[in-house]
Order: sequence, then C-alpha cells, then structure tokens
Amino acid sequence: MKKHNFYAGPSILPEITKEKTAEATINFAGTGLSVMEVSHRSKEFVAVMTEARNLVKELLQVPDGYSVLLLQGGASAQFLMVPYNLMKNKAAYLNTGSWASKAIKEAKLFGEVVEVASSKDANFNYIPKNYPVPDDASYFHITTNNTIFGKELLTEPDVKLPLVADMSSDIFSRPVDVSKYDVIYAGAQKNLGPAGVTLVIVKEDALGKVDRPIPTILDYKVQVANGSMFNTPATLPVFACLQTLKWLKELGGVETIEKINIQKSNLLYEELDRNKLFVPTVLNQEDRSRMNVTFVMAPDYAELEGDFLEFATSKGMVGIKGHRSVGGFRASLYNAMPVESVKALIEAMQDFEKNKYPEV
Ligand SMILES: *Cc1c(COP(=O)(O)O)cnc(C)c1O
Repeated sequence: MKKHNFYAGPSILPEITKEKTAEATINFAGTGLSVMEVSHRSKEFVAVMTEARNLVKELLQVPDGYSVLLLQGGASAQFLMVPYNLMKNKAAYLNTGSWASKAIKEAKLFGEVVEVASSKDANFNYIPKNYPVPDDASYFHITTNNTIFGKELLTEPDVKLPLVADMSSDIFSRPVDVSKYDVIYAGAQKNLGPAGVTLVIVKEDALGKVDRPIPTILDYKVQVANGSMFNTPATLPVFACLQTLKWLKELGGVETIEKINIQKSNLLYEELDRNKLFVPTVLNQEDRSRMNVTFVMAPDYAELEGDFLEFATSKGMVGIKGHRSVGGFRASLYNAMPVESVKALIEAMQDFEKNKYPEV
C-alpha cells in the first residue's frame, strides 16, 4: 500500500533526493568511493558544498554581504549562537511556541531578553500582533513557522530592529526578503534534507559587534571566513540537501512551490472547516500554517480520536498523530509532499465521516 508521509520532522523528501543520495553512498561523483568516505577537502566534495551554498543564494535571492553556512548542531545550537554572536545587552523575542520558548531560554544566558508578546495563555493557538518592541535591542527574534502549534508568520513584523528568524519548518516554502534579516537559520530535516545540517544565512556586517569572547566553533565570523568548512561538515547530509535544492530549482523555485503549498494547505483547511467531526486548532485564518496543519476531533466526537487514527493508518497515512502538547492530529505538508497525499488524507476523513455517520 502507498504510504503518505505526514511526519513533522525528520520528514518527507523528494524521491530524487533519496535516489541520488543512495547512489552516492556507493559511488560518489565517479570516484568509486562513497560520499561518506572521501575527504571533505577533496575537489569532489568541495564542489558539492560550493554548489549547495550557491543554490541557497540563488533560490532565496540572498543579497551580497550575506554568507550561507551549512553547520551542525541543529536549530537548537542556533538558539545560543545567535545571542552569543549578536546580542550586546538586550534582545527582543516573540514567543509563539515551544521552539521560541527554547530560543528565549538560551538567549537569557547572554543578557536581557524582552519577550514582547506571547500566546502561551491560549496554548499558542494564535500569533500575537500589535506589541511594542524596544528600539535599543540588538535584534528581534521570530519563529516564522510554529511546527508544533501549526501557525505561520507569512509577513515580516513591521519593526525597526534587524530581524533574526528560526525558519526551520518553512524555509524554501515561499519567497523571503532576506535583506530584512541579520540571521536566518533552519534545521535541514523539515524541508531540505536529512538531520545533521543546519542552514544559516548571516549578514556579515552584523558580526564582530559584541565584546564577549566567542568559542571558535560557535563564532559565525570563523565559519564565514572558512566557507562553512572550519571543521568537517556533515558530508552525506550536505550532499542530500544539494539534491533537494536542485529539485526545487528544476521545479521553478520558491515562487512555484509557494503556489503548490497554498493549494495543498487550502484543500485540507477547507475540509477541516466543512467536516463536522474535525476542527482546526488555529482559528484565525491568517495565522494558519501551510506547513503543519493541526486539528482535533470536534468536542462532540472527542471519543473518536483513536478510531480515526487507526482508520487513517489503515489507509496508508503515517505520522499524523498530533504533538503531545496539542493532541489530536498534525498533517505536515512540506515541499516534497505531493498533492495526491493531501487528497488521500482528505478522502480518509470523508470516508470516516460517512462510515460513522451515514446521515451526516
Ligand atoms: C524542529 C525545529 C527546531 C529544532 O531543530 P533541531 O534541528 O532538532 O535542533 C527548532 N525550531 C523549529 C521551528 C523547528 O521546527
């Protein structure tokens, strides 16, 4: 039976990414060796790293003066690298979910953190708006997509401070105006490749302004100066990321994928608004994530949660169980997810409704 992969991360990748990576694990670039067993300084691997960094620049139209890094440590390491490198005395954060809360916790190790607003009071089911942002902070940190709670900030907040964004779960899903940011970071394992790589786009002018000493491996300036090869990068995952970047370029880039992502998420939200058995957890239409669609059983049908999970699983759906802090279900519709899989999930929801309540 065909499996429909809705996991939130690590998550679905394009077929071509898996095929090319499988080939390269045996014979990489005609070397007769695996990509896992050649030097990261070999001309073959340097070409992979260079092409991957250049394709990120091309796909996101990264302006001059920015550097693209492919680091290790996950987005979680960026929670501390950002304040380590950029925060003078104060930084401002918008708290829209668990990941933002974790970023705030790390930033507090380095100075004063102003949490400008939080939606914690409502289990993070909306994005706060119209909050004051201190103008003497070093940067304003946002999480563009809330992977767990299913919300997405599709336009930059209108603030004077340079922005820093955790884009782990919506990078490359739509165009972004990189010039508004000092740093953009994203763990690869949602929309780009396997776990083990973290994409960082950093504005070079923003660096070197703090007085604290920075450990070498955590210093963006060192990473920039060494072309993201200060130490051994995650060679196999970087190779896989390159394949996804090429796939995206071939498809037409972020403008094209955005249209597909809008189509996919609209289909599912329309069904959630129609189907009596389910309700979306994010009620403000404009806050709803295109990448992670979170929903629960309607209150009258709460006892059917286990039944639906079993039914959907029998129809090939994988990874739709909601995060424990929200419950219910989460369907992650990352770039590589075909519209057919979204339609299969919708069909399962409709069949379940008909089976349970033929009269509905
Ligand atoms: C998954 C995720 C993270 C954590 O990423 P790691 O690479 O596991 O550290 C952080 N932020 C967001 C928004 C995420 O979706």
